[in-house]
Amino acid sequence: MSDNISRSSGAHPALRTSTFPCMRCGLTVTLLGPGGERRNHCPSCLHSRHTLDQAEGGGSDCQGRMSPLSIAVSRTGEWALVHRCTRCRELALHPVCGDDNQLILMRLAVRPLAEPPFPLEVFGEL
Ligand SMILES: [Zn+2]
Ligand SMILES: [Zn+2]
Repeated sequence: MSDNISRSSGAHPALRTSTFPCMRCGLTVTLLGPGGERRNHCPSCLHSRHTLDQAEGGGSDCQGRMSPLSIAVSRTGEWALVHRCTRCRELALHPVCGDDNQLILMRLAVRPLAEPPFPLEVFGEL
């Protein structure tokens, strides 16, 4: 199954050299990640652009800047970035790439633990 995916990505050599400028930090981002996967967010600041081809079906052409909101973990254990559009507030899930900024990923992942909506002292009484 996964063999088919890696082979089909080689069939699009144009994608391999395609780039887009990051809306936030200006980094030139290649459209394909290190593992040949298609990416749509900046590996440095993890920001993205709200475009039609990002979400299957319910896409949008609003072109707003999407900022990383948190991390979602799929049933297979893969991490996905939860992006929120700063313009239309829509949420979208994007798979994490191999060279994404690990510091920002970890910060997003532990944020709910660092700022619990209840006092942590309660655990000391258990
Ligand atoms: Zn960036
Ligand atoms: Zn939007």
